[in-house]
Amino acid sequence: MTRQPEFVRPAREALLISVVLPVYNESKVLETLTRAVTEAIRETGCDGELIYINDGSRDGSGELLDRLALADPQVKVLHLSRNFGHQAAVQAGLAHARGDVAVIMDSDMQDDPRSIGRFLEKWREGYDVVYAIRTGRKENAVKKFLFYSFYRVLNAISRTPMPPDAGNFGLVDRRVAEEIARLRDRDRYYAGLRSWVGFRQTGVEVERGPRYDGRPRVSMLGLWRLAKSAIFSFSSFPLSLFYAIGVTSMAVFFLLGIFVLYHKLFTGLAIPGWASNTMVSSFFGAMNALGIAVLGEYVTRIYDQVRDRPLYLVDRWVNFPEDRRVGQHVELNNGCVEKVLES
Ligand code: UDP
Ligand code: MG
Repeated sequence: MTRQPEFVRPAREALLISVVLPVYNESKVLETLTRAVTEAIRETGCDGELIYINDGSRDGSGELLDRLALADPQVKVLHLSRNFGHQAAVQAGLAHARGDVAVIMDSDMQDDPRSIGRFLEKWREGYDVVYAIRTGRKENAVKKFLFYSFYRVLNAISRTPMPPDAGNFGLVDRRVAEEIARLRDRDRYYAGLRSWVGFRQTGVEVERGPRYDGRPRVSMLGLWRLAKSAIFSFSSFPLSLFYAIGVTSMAVFFLLGIFVLYHKLFTGLAIPGWASNTMVSSFFGAMNALGIAVLGEYVTRIYDQVRDRPLYLVDRWVNFPEDRRVGQHVELNNGCVEKVLES
C-alpha cells in the first residue's frame, strides 16, 4: 500500500488546510474542540478553515456552531436538513473543502488535532493521503475485538487493499478529496473509498483518545451497517461463497447417487422411494446454490455498473498536451465536481 513518493512538494506560502468535522449532538465539546483545532492549525503556520457539518443535531450544537462562526470567520458551518449519518456528513464536508489539503476528523476529541502537523509533514514529503493508524483504542474489549477482526476480515476479502486500523482520521490532498467527493457510491465507506482512489498513501501511528462523554453517536447497529457497506461495496466474497456451496453439493449429489444406486441395483437394501427421494433433493439443492451463484454474477456486475466508479484515475501525465489527456482528472477543472454532487 505504502509507495515511496517521487517528489517533495515545494514549500508554499499561504497553504490552506480544511478541517472537516461532522457533528451530531456534541455541544459540550465544540468550544474546546474549536480552540484545539485552531491552535493545531496555527502551529503548522498555515491558513485554515474549520468546516463543521451539523448533521441534524438536537442538543443546541447548531446554534453554538453559528455563534462560533460569528466570532471567527475561519469557522464555517454546514447545517444538514436532518440527520443523514456520519458518512454522509463527511461527504458533505469534503465536497465543501477548498483547502490545499483536507483533514477529516471526529468532533469528539478522540482524534488528536495535534496530529495535523505530522500529517502535513508527510504530505510535504510528497504523499497524497496520510491516514492515522489507530493505536490504544479506549473502547471495551468486545468492541476492540470486533474492530480488530473487521479490519482484518475486510482486508482479506476486499479487492482493494486497505490498511488495517485506519478509520476516517487523516489528511488527503485536495485532488484526492475531489476524487473521493466525485465518487457516486451511495453506500459509502470513506476509509475504503480513500484506499480505492490510490495515489501515494502512507500511515502515521496515532493514539486514539477516549470519547469525551463516553457515549458514541454511531450506535452498534450503525457500525454493523457500516461494516456491511464496507464488505459489500469492496468485496464479492459473500456471493462467491455460493459457488463453493454449489460445487460441494454437486459433489455430495454424485457420491450419494453412486451409493444409492449401488444399493438399489445390487444389494436390494434400498427402501422403496428412498433412492429417488434422496437423489432428487440433493440434485435440486445443488442446482439452487449454483443458480444463486450465477445470479450473483449478474447482480455484482449490475451493482458495479450502477455505482459507476471510474475505471481508472490518472495521477499525472508526462509529455501529453492538455487536449490529449483522457481520464478522470480532465473533468476536475470544469465545474463537474459540483454538478455531480448536486445530481
Ligand atoms: N456523527 C455524525 N452523524 C451521525 C453520527 C455521528 O455526524 O449520525 C459524528 C459524531 O458527532 C462524531 C463522528 O461523526 O464527530 C463520529 O461519531 P462517533 O464518535 O460516534 O463514532 P466512533 O468514533 O464511535 O466510530
Ligand atoms: Mg468517535
